[in-house]
Amino acid sequence: MNRTTIEQTLASLQTRPTKSLGQNFLHDEAAAAWIVNQLDLRPEDHLVEVGPGLGALTEFAVGQCRSATLIEKDGRLAGFLKERFADKPNVEVLHGDALDYDLRTLFPHGPTKVLGNLPYYVSSQVLFAFTAEPSPVGRLVFTLQKEMAERLSAEPSTKEYGAITLIVGRRWRVRYVRTLPGSVFMPAPNVESGVIVLTPRDQSELPDCDGRLFNRLVKEGFSQRRKMLRKMLAPHNLDWPALCAAIGAEETVRGEALSLKQWVDLTRFVEAHADPEKFNAKAQDVHGEMFDVVDDENRVTGQASRHTVHKEKLKHRAVHIFVFNAKGDLFLQKRSRMKDANPGRWDSSAAGHLNAGCDYEESAQRELQEELGVSAPLEQIGSLPAIHETGWEFVRLYKAEHNGPFTWPRAEIESGLFFPIEVIDRWTAARPHDFSNSFLQSYRLWREKRE
Ligand code: SAM
Repeated sequence: MNRTTIEQTLASLQTRPTKSLGQNFLHDEAAAAWIVNQLDLRPEDHLVEVGPGLGALTEFAVGQCRSATLIEKDGRLAGFLKERFADKPNVEVLHGDALDYDLRTLFPHGPTKVLGNLPYYVSSQVLFAFTAEPSPVGRLVFTLQKEMAERLSAEPSTKEYGAITLIVGRRWRVRYVRTLPGSVFMPAPNVESGVIVLTPRDQSELPDCDGRLFNRLVKEGFSQRRKMLRKMLAPHNLDWPALCAAIGAEETVRGEALSLKQWVDLTRFVEAHADPEKFNAKAQDVHGEMFDVVDDENRVTGQASRHTVHKEKLKHRAVHIFVFNAKGDLFLQKRSRMKDANPGRWDSSAAGHLNAGCDYEESAQRELQEELGVSAPLEQIGSLPAIHETGWEFVRLYKAEHNGPFTWPRAEIESGLFFPIEVIDRWTAARPHDFSNSFLQSYRLWREKRE
C-alpha cells in the first residue's frame, strides 16, 4: 500500500492513526514485499499476522499460503480487512487482542508462520506469547523497535546483550535482517525499526537444561549488570571455583560475558548441585527391562526383555492414562526427541509398559507418578487389542482428573499442555503423523466410550 492509498483508506473509514494502538502504517511497498519474503511462505503453510492494520504486509502474503488468520485489535481496521479479503475464504480476520489469542488452536495447522509489524507497546509480550513452550510456530518475522530487535539478536559482552537475549535465544535462533528508517511508516515514528527472523533451535544444538531454572538464573544474573556474577548468584551457595572451571569462565566474570552455551552449562551445574541424585539419574536401562509376554487372550505365557519383545513383535501389556483438568481439557505430552520410539510425537498424558509381574492398575499409578509427578484416582475407560497399530500391546486405558502443575523427566518428555477436545479432534484428523499410533487408538476408544 502506498502513502496515498493509506491516507484515502483512513479517510474513507473516518479514522486517523491511533497512537495508543501503536499504529504506524508501512507505505514502502518494496520493503513490505521484502519483509514477507523473509517468511519463506510455502503453499501448504498457515499464516498468522499480528496487527495487520490496513494489510500492507498481508497483501503480499495471502496469495502465497494455504490459509491465514489476521488478528487486529482496532475494530474499524478489522472490519475493513474483512471486506478487503472477502473473496479469500481461507483468510480469517479476528477482531481482538493478540495477547488473548489461544495459540493452541494453531497446532492442527502444523508449524505456523507468524508475521507482525508489531505495535511497540506490546511487542515483547507478543513475542513471549508466540515463542512460549510448546509453540506451534515454525518461523516468525517481526518488525520491532530497533533497540528491542538488537537486544534479541545481541552477542555477549555488548550493551544490548541481556536476559531477553538469552531467554528467547535458548529455544530460538534470532537473526537481525534489516533496519527500517521511521520514514517508511505513516505517521513516521521518531525511532528506527529492526526486522528479525526467529526459527526454532534444534534440540541437539545445546545441552538439555531446566528451562525455568535457566530463566530464573539469567534474570538474577542480569538484575545488576555491572556486578560480578558470583555476587548475584551468592544465594545459591555454589562452589564458585568449580562452577567457573566447569563452564570455562573467569571467577570474576559478569553475566554479560557468558555465552548462551555457558549459561546453559551454568544452569546444569546449579541443577546438579541442588539435587545431584535426580540430575545424575540415568534414563532407565530400557534394554534390560523385562516384560510379561502374553498370548492372544492376554494370558501370561512367559517373560522377555524389552528388546526381544519389540524385535520379535511378541504380545505384551501397556497402560495409557488420559489426564483431564476441571475444564475437560486433555493433557498431552510431547515425547522427547531423544526417545527411540516415536521421538518428538504427541502422546497420552502418561503411558508405559507393564513390567514383568505387575498389574495394569499399579502400572498406571506408577506411570502417572514417574511421568507427571502426581497421583490421582484412576478410572478404567476400556482396553485395546494387541495389534500392529498398538505395537502388539494389550493396552488398558485409564482416565484421571488433575489440574497440574506437572513435572516430568526431560529425557522422556520434551513438553506438555492441556488441549481442548475440539482442538485435538481437528489436530488428529489433519495431522495424525504428529501423534503416536497408540495414542490415536486410545483417543478413538475414549471418543467411542464418551458418545
Ligand atoms: N501491519 C500494518 C502495517 O505494517 O502497516 C500495521 C502495523 S502497526 C505498527 C500495528 C498494528 O497492530 C495496528 O494496526 C494496531 O491497530 C494493531 N494492534 C495494536 N495492538 C494490538 C493487539 N494487542 N493485538 C492485535 N493488534 C494490535
